[in-house]
Amino acid sequence: MSKGILVINAGSSSIKFSLYLTGKDGLSAAGGQLRLASKGQVEGMYVAPRFVAAGPDGVRTADHRWDDPKTSHEVLLRYLLDWVEDHLDGAELVAAGHRVVHGGTDFTKPTLVTPEVLEQLEKLVPLAPLHQSYNLSPICALAKIHPDLPQVACFDTAFHRSNPAVAQTFALPRELTEEGVRRYGFHGLSYEYIAGALHQYDARAAEGRVVVAHLGSGASMCALKGGRSHASTMGFTALEGLPMGTRSGSLDVGVVFYLLEQKGMSVKDIESMLYKKSGLLGVSGVSNDMRVLMASDDPRAREAVDLFVYRICRELGSLTAAVGGLDALVFTAGIGQNSREIRALVCEQAAWLGIDFDAEANEAHGPRISTPDSPVSVWVIPTDEELMIATHTRKTLAEATRVAA
Ligand code: AMP
Repeated sequence: MSKGILVINAGSSSIKFSLYLTGKDGLSAAGGQLRLASKGQVEGMYVAPRFVAAGPDGVRTADHRWDDPKTSHEVLLRYLLDWVEDHLDGAELVAAGHRVVHGGTDFTKPTLVTPEVLEQLEKLVPLAPLHQSYNLSPICALAKIHPDLPQVACFDTAFHRSNPAVAQTFALPRELTEEGVRRYGFHGLSYEYIAGALHQYDARAAEGRVVVAHLGSGASMCALKGGRSHASTMGFTALEGLPMGTRSGSLDVGVVFYLLEQKGMSVKDIESMLYKKSGLLGVSGVSNDMRVLMASDDPRAREAVDLFVYRICRELGSLTAAVGGLDALVFTAGIGQNSREIRALVCEQAAWLGIDFDAEANEAHGPRISTPDSPVSVWVIPTDEELMIATHTRKTLAEATRVAA
């Protein structure tokens, strides 16, 4: 019988979901490729809650609003779950897979959630205060609503646990490193998906040295060697590395002392500024959306774009050094997949690495945007974190069922 896997990606104001169905052989490998049946979200939580869903063709299949802005998480999630159960197309819902931003040093792979696991994950909230608790609340709510439904936590940090110790260590007193103040890296589900998908495009490079640029509203880059993560631009939090839509990216920590001591800013104000008012938005004063910046004739918008590209190229050099060379560069996520201009600017500045850019192929969004003879191949590959979560969830559940049998 076909099985349904619900994927949940919860943030501060929305719960995104995707429903995947297996073939008729269910969870076993013979169950075939997972098929997206529906996707949607509960949005506007605590302001103007609304549930929307669409089929794989993007055609809207649900739209429901609640009058009470304070409608609880549990009520919203119960609605989502009831809707999903009504749209299973004869399949049986067997699991929910969740995106969980932080797995610390202990969670190195997707994990079946038990009360003990949940307790350990809650201890990691201080490491990702702006994300972790939002990721965990639907797990708790689902456990109440549907206690028999297995839940699998899939971590953004897990893929980077293969990084060598030097790539994970800050030059801080050892006791801090030992208590967990280290570089974790994020966007791991996206990188893992790309590491797998690259085989279909360039099997040789997929086994070699690759830098993946995940350029979305959150942006980071990762160096892969033999398909495993070796280094990434994000560190202890998702603030390090590239400038993003509203996040500053890497910053001399001396700036924080200055803001505290000379400007009298509170820690909360600084945190809010670095996460929500910096990056493309802060530099341009115009927008955090790359499309708006590219269309603007405000010189500050151009400065923000130039800084974004400059930082990508600096990080590209650094990540290439971390893996001792470069066989392929991959662009992914909202900006990476859609912005011809950003890809062209990066490839032109990075020509010294052996990138022979194919402008015509880039206009057509690739997938290959380097010439056939280019020493470094360059690709545009759409990421699919939800499919990665569904795949992990199916595998984790199948393994757990085998162990229990
Ligand atoms: P993501 O977080 O991966 O959904 O990416 C979102 C970002 O992608 C948005 O902030 C936009 O700036 C950017 N984006 C989407 N489409 C385009 C486009 N055609 N050109 C430039 N940027 C785009």
